[in-house]
Amino acid sequence: MASSDPILRLEGVVKKFGGFTALHGVDLEIREGEFFTIVGPSGSGKSTMIRLLVGMDEITDGAIWLRDQRIEAMPANLRPTCMVFQSLALFPHMSVGQNIEFPLKLRKTDPKTRKERALELLDLLRLPRDYYDKRVSQCSGGEKQRVALARALAFDPEILFFDEPLSALDYRLRKTLEKELKDLHQRTGKTFVYITHSLEEAMVMSDRIAIMKAGRFEQIAVADEIYGNPVSRFVAEFMGEVNLFEVTFADGKTLQGPGLTVKAGLKRKGLPSGGKGLLMVRPEFIRFCAQDETPDYQIKGRLLAEYALGSRIQYEVETAEGKILTVEKLRQDRANSVEIGSDVLLGFDAASTHLIGDS
Ligand code: ATP
Repeated sequence: MASSDPILRLEGVVKKFGGFTALHGVDLEIREGEFFTIVGPSGSGKSTMIRLLVGMDEITDGAIWLRDQRIEAMPANLRPTCMVFQSLALFPHMSVGQNIEFPLKLRKTDPKTRKERALELLDLLRLPRDYYDKRVSQCSGGEKQRVALARALAFDPEILFFDEPLSALDYRLRKTLEKELKDLHQRTGKTFVYITHSLEEAMVMSDRIAIMKAGRFEQIAVADEIYGNPVSRFVAEFMGEVNLFEVTFADGKTLQGPGLTVKAGLKRKGLPSGGKGLLMVRPEFIRFCAQDETPDYQIKGRLLAEYALGSRIQYEVETAEGKILTVEKLRQDRANSVEIGSDVLLGFDAASTHLIGDS
C-alpha cells in the first residue's frame, strides 16, 4: 500500500538535447510503495524522464531527491534502483539461475547466498525451482519476463523502473503479466515506476497515472479521475473513446451547443457566464432514446455503422452538424431496434458528463 510520503521528488527538472528541450521544468512526487505509471504519446519524454531517474543520463537543470538525499549527480550503479527493459537484456547462453544471480555476483555476494536468493526469487515469481539450471534460451516469452523481473529484484532495489516491458508480447500473455505485475507489486511493497503507451495497461495496474505531453505533465491522478474528469481535450482523447461537444455557458446557468437539446430547467455550474468549454460524455453513457424520453441532453443523428468489439458493440452516429459520435453498449444490451442508415435519438444525463473549461 502506498504511503503519502514521497520516495522520489523532482523539482523543476529540465532536459535539453542541444537546442531541443525534452523536459520543461517538471515537478513530480512519487510516493513510497506506489505503482506510478507515466503514459504519453511517442516523443512526449517518457523514456527521457526514466533515464534521468535511473541515472542513465544527466539533467540539464533542477533537482532529483530520493527521500532527503539529492541524487541527480549520483552514478546509476550507486542508486538503489533497478530498470526492467522491453528487451529484457537477459543473457541467453546463461542459465536462469546465473541470470538472476548476475547483479549479486557483481556485488561480490558469496555463491551460497546468491543461490538461496535466486531460489527465493523463483518462488516469488512462481517459477519452478528446477528452472534454476534451465537455459534462458529454452524459456517461453512469459518465463523470460519473470526471469528478468527476478533479476531486477535480486539486489533488493527500493524502486523498480519499467520501460514498456510487456509491449513485445502477445495480447493474452500481456494481460496475464499485467495482473502478475500488479500482484508482485503488492507482495513486495516496493515502489514501481512504469512507462507505457498503453492506457489499458496503465489503468489495470497503477495507483496513479501521469499523462505526459510534449515534455510536461498534463494531469497526474488516479485512473478513475483521469478517465472521468480529464483536465483537457488532450487527456480526454488520450484516455480512450470520447464524445466532446463545444458548448457555451449562455446565461450563466445553461449550456448550449450545436444540435444539443438541453432539458428545460437544467442548470450547470463550472464555467463563467458567456464562457466556452467542452462537454464530455464517454460512449458507454450515451443511450438510444425513444421519442417520449427526456434525458438531460438529447441529440439527433443517423446511425452510420456498428462494430462488434467482443463483449461490446460500438455504434457510430453522425449528427446533423456532421459530428461523429461514438456509442457503446454491452453485447447483451445491443440496440436491436436501430438499423444502419436510420435516424436515431441519442440521450445522456448531466451526471454522466464532465465539463472541461476552455484553455
Ligand atoms: P516513445 O514512446 O516513442 O519511446 P518517449 O515519450 O519515450 O517516446 P523520448 O524518447 O523521451 O520520448 O523523447 C522525447 C523527445 O526527446 C523526442 O522528441 C526525442 O526525439 C528527443 N530525444 C530523446 N533522446 C534524444 C537524444 N539523445 N538526442 C536528441 N533528442 C533526443
